[in-house]
Amino acid sequence: MRIDLHTHSSVSDGTDDPRTLVRKAAESGLDVVALTDHDTAEGWAGATAVAAEVGITLVLGMEISTRLGAAGVHLLAYLPDPTYAPLAAALDKILEGRNSRVPAICAKLGELGFEITAGDVRRRAAAAAATGRPHVADVMIAAGIVATRDEAFERFLNPGRPAHVNRYAVPLSEAIALVAASGGVGVIAHPWGRGRSGVLTEATLSDLRDQGLVGLEIDHQDHSPEARDALRAIARNLDLVVTGSSDHHGTGKIDHELGCNTTAPEEYERLLDLAAQAAAASGRPAPGVPA
Ligand code: AMP
Ligand code: FE
Ligand code: FE
Ligand code: ZN
Repeated sequence: MRIDLHTHSSVSDGTDDPRTLVRKAAESGLDVVALTDHDTAEGWAGATAVAAEVGITLVLGMEISTRLGAAGVHLLAYLPDPTYAPLAAALDKILEGRNSRVPAICAKLGELGFEITAGDVRRRAAAAAATGRPHVADVMIAAGIVATRDEAFERFLNPGRPAHVNRYAVPLSEAIALVAASGGVGVIAHPWGRGRSGVLTEATLSDLRDQGLVGLEIDHQDHSPEARDALRAIARNLDLVVTGSSDHHGTGKIDHELGCNTTAPEEYERLLDLAAQAAAASGRPAPGVPA
C-alpha cells in the first residue's frame, strides 16, 4: 500500500488543479493521497469527486501557516472541519494576510526596478484561494527576471532577501487546538526543514504533544538521512505518529514527485484512529473519513 499524505494543487501553490492532481496520484500507483493545500479546503470537493471515479482513497487535509515565536511552522491538519467557526476565522485571517502581502512584495520589487503589479500576480494565481510567493515567482519567470521559482526565492523572496515581506500566521499551539476542536489531527510538516531543527527541539515537541500534536512528517525531501534518524528517535520517545510524504507541487517544486516519500500503513492507521477519536471528542461531524 502506497500512501502520500502531503500534496498541493493550484488552489494553493501547486500547478495541477485538484481533479488532475488526484488523477495523477492514482496513475502514479498511490493507494492513498492527502490533498493539503495551504490554508484552504477549497480543493476538497473537486478532489473528492475524482477520487471516487479513479478509485483512490483521498484524505482531506490542509497545511496551516503557523508560527512558534518568530519561526514559521507548517501544521498539516488531517480531517479538520473547515466550517468550524473558530478555525474558519483563523484561516480567513491567514488568507487575508497572504493577499495583503502581495502588493507589499510588488512594491519592494518595484524599488529594485522590476515592474510587477499585484494584478499580474492575481491573474497568475487565478485558481488559487491561497496566494503566495510562488505566484509572485511565476510572474517573475514570465517577465524573464528569473528562470525558476527556486531562483526567485534565493535572490528575492526568502527571509533576508530584498523583496521579503512577513505575513500573519496563527500561533502553533492555537492552531493545534483549533484543528483538534474541529475534529481533526495535527502533524508538523517538515519539522527540521530549512534550518528549523533549533526551533522544534525534543523538549518543545514534547510540550506540543501535550497540547494535542499527534505526529511528525519525517520522511520529507527537506530532511537529510541523519535528520530523519534523529526525528524518528524523538517520535518514538514521544509516541508521535511518523509520516512520510512528497509535498508535491506539480512542476512548482523540483524533486518532489508524487510518492517520492511515503507513510507506513500502520502509521496511517494510527493517524486515522486518532482522527476518529478527535472527531468523537469534538462532537462534530468528521468530513469524509476515508473508508
Ligand atoms: P508563502 O506561502 O508565500 O509563504 O511561500 C512559501 C511556499 O513557497 C512554500 O509552501 C513552498 O512550497 C514554496 N517555496 C519555498 N521555497 C521555494 C523554492 N526555493 N522553490 C520553490 N518553491 C518554494
Ligand atoms: Fe507550498
Ligand atoms: Fe510546507
Ligand atoms: Zn507543503
